[in-house]
Amino acid sequence: MAGMLRRRTPAPFAATLERERTAPRPTWSALRPANAQPASGAVMPPILEARDLTKVYALGRTTVEALRGVSMSVAPGEFVALMGPSGSGKSTLLQLLGGLDRPTTGSVVFEGRDISRLSDGQATRLRRERTGYVFQAFNLIPLLNVRENIALPFTIAGGPKDQKELVRQVIDLVELTGKERHRPDQLSAGEQQRVAVARALVTRPSVLLADEPTGNLDYTNSGELLDALWRSCDQGGQTIVLVTHDARAAAYADRVLVIGDGRIQDEIELGRRADHSAAILIARLAQVGL
Ligand code: ADP
Repeated sequence: MAGMLRRRTPAPFAATLERERTAPRPTWSALRPANAQPASGAVMPPILEARDLTKVYALGRTTVEALRGVSMSVAPGEFVALMGPSGSGKSTLLQLLGGLDRPTTGSVVFEGRDISRLSDGQATRLRRERTGYVFQAFNLIPLLNVRENIALPFTIAGGPKDQKELVRQVIDLVELTGKERHRPDQLSAGEQQRVAVARALVTRPSVLLADEPTGNLDYTNSGELLDALWRSCDQGGQTIVLVTHDARAAAYADRVLVIGDGRIQDEIELGRRADHSAAILIARLAQVGL
């Protein structure tokens, strides 16, 4: 399979992006079922695939093996959590999945194309147009209000005709209607992170990648943030990959991949649930010693 992909002459990346612009995108305007079978890679071809990924960092004279052969896939519309202790390789894996960094060996296939060897320009374009990122730090622009922060991707790269409506929809999704003119210092930490989520979603990315997005939030704010992520997935069909060390956050996912020592140690299928109780997940994690 990998050999077949290598032999195929790749379409110019710009042409591929153009074609994909017309492909179905997540939508938050209507409360409709997700556009994919939840929690199953079996029915639809995966939107994102890691094939035997390794990542070795050079640290002076020594090296760190952050990933030691990771293979996984994510179905369209699926919510997948990558869970594991600090230093297990979760962020490294997420960065490779989103084209922020390149693997040492192995490949990442995103929407059917190998993205692990893109040029810097192509990778930048992919990140801007096809993926959305949320990090632990909110990274908002202090002088811009909520609406302006969310519209920033359009300000930088130009936006579609319906960009005002898209901004309105994501503000509604993250429940910040009425706070459009607030600046970040006039918002709670949870509200700021929801602005960051809205900004990541406004371009209707194929995949949302979130790295410990609740890391700086208290219990209540974490819950509201996770609810917003879940709504985007369940109602809008948004594909999500969430990195977390927190079982409560991972319990929102359809499926949890447990990472340890640079490898996938376990896979826990939770299925799509309106109830996000972490009890089942915690019981399973206890069985694998986490
Ligand atoms: P996690 O997200 O699970 O905490 P990371 O993916 O951040 O784990 O890190 C996995 C391992 O790789 C750790 O040992 C970490 O110290 C190392 N590492 C991560 N990034 C770098 C880097 N840029 N340079 C060197 N080592 C790194």
